[in-house]
Order: sequence, then C-alpha cells, then structure tokens
Amino acid sequence: MLTETLSLSESLKQFYGFDKFKGRQEEIVESVLNGKDTFVIMPTGGGKSLCYQLPALISEGTAIIISPLIALMKNQVDSIRNFGSEDGVAHFMNSSLSKTEINQVKQDITGGKTKMLFVAPESLTKQENIDFFKGIRVSLVAVDEAHCISEWGHDFRPEYRRIKEMIKAIDSNIPIMALTATATPKVQQDIQKNLGMSDANVFKDSFNRANLYYEVRPKVNVIKELIRFIKQEQGKSGIVYCLSRKKVEEVAEALRVNGVRALPYHAGMDAATRAANQDAFLMEDTDVIVATIAFGMGIDKPDVRFVIHHDVPKSLEGYYQETGRAGRDGGEGKCVSFYSYKDIEKLEKFMQGKPVSEQEIGKQLIQETVSYVETSVCRRRYLLHYFGEVYPEHNCGNCDNCNHPKERVEGQEDVVTVLNLIKEINQKFKDKHIIQILIGKESAAVKSYKHNTLESFGIGTEKGEKYWQALIRQCLVAGFITKDIESYGLLKVTKDGNDYLDNPVSFMVTKDHDYDNIEGDDDILVGNKATGAAADEVLFGMLKDLNKKIAKEKGLPPFVIFQEPSLQDMATQYPTSLTDLNNIAGVGVGKANKFGKPFVELIARYVEENEIERPQDMIVKSVVNKSGQKVFIIQSIDRKMKLEDIADAKSISVDDVIAEIEAIVDSGTRVDLNYYLDDILDPDHQEEILDYFREAANDSIEAAVNELGDDVYSVEELRLMRI
Ligand code: ADP
Ligand code: MG
Ligand code: ZN
Repeated sequence: MLTETLSLSESLKQFYGFDKFKGRQEEIVESVLNGKDTFVIMPTGGGKSLCYQLPALISEGTAIIISPLIALMKNQVDSIRNFGSEDGVAHFMNSSLSKTEINQVKQDITGGKTKMLFVAPESLTKQENIDFFKGIRVSLVAVDEAHCISEWGHDFRPEYRRIKEMIKAIDSNIPIMALTATATPKVQQDIQKNLGMSDANVFKDSFNRANLYYEVRPKVNVIKELIRFIKQEQGKSGIVYCLSRKKVEEVAEALRVNGVRALPYHAGMDAATRAANQDAFLMEDTDVIVATIAFGMGIDKPDVRFVIHHDVPKSLEGYYQETGRAGRDGGEGKCVSFYSYKDIEKLEKFMQGKPVSEQEIGKQLIQETVSYVETSVCRRRYLLHYFGEVYPEHNCGNCDNCNHPKERVEGQEDVVTVLNLIKEINQKFKDKHIIQILIGKESAAVKSYKHNTLESFGIGTEKGEKYWQALIRQCLVAGFITKDIESYGLLKVTKDGNDYLDNPVSFMVTKDHDYDNIEGDDDILVGNKATGAAADEVLFGMLKDLNKKIAKEKGLPPFVIFQEPSLQDMATQYPTSLTDLNNIAGVGVGKANKFGKPFVELIARYVEENEIERPQDMIVKSVVNKSGQKVFIIQSIDRKMKLEDIADAKSISVDDVIAEIEAIVDSGTRVDLNYYLDDILDPDHQEEILDYFREAANDSIEAAVNELGDDVYSVEELRLMRI
C-alpha cells in the first residue's frame, strides 16, 4: 500500500508539479484505480479534472471523458498536452473535426499513444464510434459536469441521459466516474440513478471556498461603483453578471467608454461573436466579460479575480455557481453583488403567468436570496448552511459582514419567545405570519386564526419587522428551527431548539442591513485590498507579460503555459535553471522542459541586473525582504510568539511590527492576536476598548486616546485592539 501511495504522489509531482493532493483527490484516484464506480462532488476549483486525468495517465488504455462543451474540451486537451508529453496523449472528438483529423485521433488511440479522449455526448452516441471504442482498451469513463444529466440541475442536457446506454454498449465493466459541482441532494440522486452507479464510492468535499471574498453593496450609482471597483482591479480578469441581455449590452458599453477592456456575452448574440468574445477573455485580450448567466460553464479560466452581480441572482444555488468561477486557482477572488429590493420585485414580476407551483418554488428561491443578501451574519456561514454544511467559525474574516461587523444585541429572551410561539401555533406557519403576530399586525390570516388574541401578539412592535426577520434567520442558521421546504417553508422547532428552551443562554443577534436606506455609504464599499502573493511584484509583472507573449505565439490561453500561482512562486524563489524550476509549485518536469527556458533566462537576467541575492543564499533584497518579513510575522503570530520576540528576531522595533501587522490586516489577511492581547490587557479593558471602536465614528487612534485617556492605555495597546 505504501509503495502505491508513494508512486501516486510521485506521479502528481512528475506530471503536475504539485507537492500535495488537494482535498480528497488521492482517495478518489485510488478508488478509480481499484476499478470502483466513483462519484465526485466538489466545488468549482476543487480540482476535479485531476481526479480522472491522473488515473488516465497512469492506467493502461484510453480514458473516455464526456464533457458538454467544445471549448471546455479544447482547453483541457491543450492543458494536458502541455504537461510536456506528446501531443497524442490527449485528443478530443467532436463535430468540429474533419474526417482526416478523426482518423489521426483513432490512429493515436490504437497506437497506444492516447491516454485521454474527450468526447461530446453526441459523438458518443454515433454507432461507428461505439464500434470503434469496442475494439480498444478503455481504462475508465468520466462524466464531467455530470449535473447536466438532471432536470433539477441548472444546465440540463437531454443527450446526457443516453450516456449509460452507450457505456454499456461499449463494455459494461469499465469503471464510471461522475463529477459535478452541484451541491443539491436531488441532483446527486438523479445522477447516480441515471448512470446506474448507486453503489459508487461517493466523495463529497466541503463547499467552502476559503479564498473567495463575499460582499453585498447597495445598488446606488451602480455603474459608477462598478467602474471604480474594476479600475482598482486594473488588468485582472473578471466577470460581471446581469439579468437581461439589454443590461449586458449597456453595461459593457459603459465600461468600454470608461476605458475598461470589456466585452458582452449573451445568448442573443450570434455564435461567432460569442465565441470570439469568450476567446478574447481566455486569451486575456479583454479583461472583463459582461454576461448573462449563459456565460460560465465553458470557463475553466483559473485566474478570474472578481465576479460581480450587477443584479441580484435568482437563487443561491446560481449565486454560488457564478461566484464560484472566481479564484479557481486558490488565489484572490472577490465576489461582489449589488442589491436593491426593487430587483426582487422585478424578479417576482417575471414569474407572473407561470404555473402556480413553479411560481411558489421560484418565490421561495428568491426569498432565500433576499435573506442572504440582507443578513449580517457571516456570509460564508450562511451560504454553507444553505448547502447543509456547518461552518464552525462565526467570523470567517473574508466577507463584508465579518470585516465590518454590525451592532449586536442580546436576543436570549426573544429567541425563547419565538420558539415558544412557533410551538404554540403547532409549527404550522411561515416566518411572515409569525412576524406579523410579534409586531401586532392584524392581517387577514392572523385574524382568521385568532392569533391576535395570543399573549405574544404585539409583544415586539417597537423592535420592528426587520429585527424579527434577522432573529428568525439567525435561529435557522443556529439550527434551533428548520424550514420545511416541502410544505413551502413552515417553521418547526428542532431538538436543538427544544434544548435551548430548556436551558437558554446568551444569544447575540446581529441586525440586518437595510440596503434601501443607504445613500452611497462609502464605509461598506471598502472591499479587501488586492494582495499579490508574489514577493517581487515587479518580476511577477514581467513574468506575466512573458507568459502572455508566449501564449499568444502558440495560440493558447496564458494559463495553459504557467498558472498564476506558479508565476508568483517564481517571483519569490527566483529559479534560474530548469532544475530550480522543478521546485516551483505547479511546474512538472515536462512543463519545465517545454516552456521553462525563456522564464529562467528572464529571471537570471533580472537577478543579475538588480543584484538580487536569491533566497537560497539567505539574504534577500529589500522588496523581497518586506514581504518576507510579513510572512515571518504571520507565521510567528500563528506560533503565538510575543511581539517583542518577533521584533527582536527581525531586529526592528515593536512599533514596526505593529505597523506591519496593520498592513497585513489591511490587505485582507486575518491574524489572531488574542493570545498576546490576553497577555497584556485584562478582559474588562479589552471590552472597553472594543466597545469604543464599535461605537466610534472612525477608527482614528488619536480620537481613541482623547476619549479613553493615554494614561490608561498606551497607543500600542489601542492599535493592537483596533487590529
Ligand atoms: P474543477 O474542475 O473542480 O472546478 P479544476 O480541475 O479546473 O477544478 O482545478 C482547479 C484549479 O486547481 C486548477 O488551477 C488546478 O491547476 C488546481 N489544482 C488541482 N489539483 C491541485 C493540487 N493537488 N495542488 C494544487 N493545485 C491544484
Ligand atoms: Mg471542471
Ligand atoms: Zn464571514
């Protein structure tokens, strides 16, 4: 067993240049290699491709990979070929190929060169292809984007329904893999049933995308805000989603006029223009695509740095998929949505005239979205809860609500009131009705059930509707109540809720945002500042340009040459030989040999011209030194080192250390200083300072000193608490 694992990680290093498997990749690869049917559910960017590519590369025969889009296949094939193996190692077969090209593909397969063949379901169903596949050795069949099988998914393709028959016709003993990023159980069941793989090994990863930053902004001056945001992200790739084709055209035009390289994409455009615009995005000839949701599935671009929703999405599932296209490579990914309640009313209007049941489902989905955008609890926690996952932290440090927390109030008594009320009315009512009782609204429904005679009727009038809404949502997230979707959202008290009633404890409630009463409040418009993970930003820029130039010459998207994390690593480690290059993250032996030369040459020249002492020599130049220092500080804090000791280690003052920490935090990285604060300040004092900053109009230290007195607290203590 040990030798097998060893050789798996060796092949990982060899082909991909990765040191470690991501998530459960290794178990998945093993499952396939053991001939088991395998079902992989991982969020976008989780690294699904490797799960079939690696077994395919090291197994005998050819893997058939079914993929819905021609563009998707082409990218993958390009990527695999550029591991450095021969071109024949991967092929695709679809309607875009000529007869001669198809013959070449078949020749490579029978000649044993081809490890992976990407096919569209349409090509798979052709009898002559099936006959051909029968005569060759097929190592495995992988169904990528497997949610296309299900009508419940967001992208149903009828052809996908016939896959199972085809596989059976070829050879019923081949292991089948299905891969999808769709989180709903309904779709998952459909997939397994349809592919006849109910006893498959199922691997479901967490849907947390730690590198994505979530933010909701009020929809005020949206075009101006959009331009401002994108200008700050100059040169990075991003997607702006709009609900209608008309909006897409308008926004793209507005961006272009304002000097942003942006192109539109929607289903109403002719196929050629659409394809051209998508290519321009992949090749980085344009920075921004403004699109309807028609744009996305074909986009395996790993370095999309932001996804903006100009209009609020129709469902959280959709929102999650769309935002998921940011930061696939694990790097920065900002997800910003603009929201105004008017958009919700528009969405509801769209549904008029549809069958009632469809309207009910649609409304429910929209309400979930409203809850999400208006909530003040951690957005990550909220989203994951929606997908049935418990996120253990209350503060993820990477969403607007965590970075700019709203006021919180003690809600213990109110939670008890709500839970008791739900039970009193036999758990047969929705949140809206319950809130009406609490705020004493004599609606027709309330009167008809005589709920205006209940003791709790009108008990929470002053606190207002928004407060109760927030409280109920937070009880849902805490697991005290559940919403019964089958019966259109009736609230029921869970076991945890009953336990709470037996033994109530403090429950802090965060008030919701009120996006329609915000007038361009600049405060919440501050997102995470961009952070480059490269130590040497200048070199990183040069490497990016070189990467782009080479990609252009070869007619490939830049990420097929080297991905951003690899370039960042190069701009930190300064590899000057091909051997050095092998140590760079994401660079396998093949890739180093195939593309590495101009890169190491550039780095060697750069190192010499700038007299850079490379990290191997332990002394680093100032630009580098600075980031190196930050990394050192972050690591030391993780190890709970005293700030004085950190300062000593780096021969700088404690003041400088604090300044560095402030910069680190400003750029969006979270540090946990509690261990140190607990050391220097007792809890009451910490509380007092925190209270001050929560209430204060701004976070100026001077103002804090004036208010709290410099004889009580030192400036350092205040600065640390502010962090
Ligand atoms: P998915 O299909 O699940 O959305 P991809 O297969 O496109 O994800 O992979 C997303 C990104 O993760 C790619 O940039 C890929 O290079 C990277 N990746 C995959 N596996 C690893 C790994 N073991 N270590 C580091 N990066 C990885
Ligand atoms: Mg994929
Ligand atoms: Zn958060």
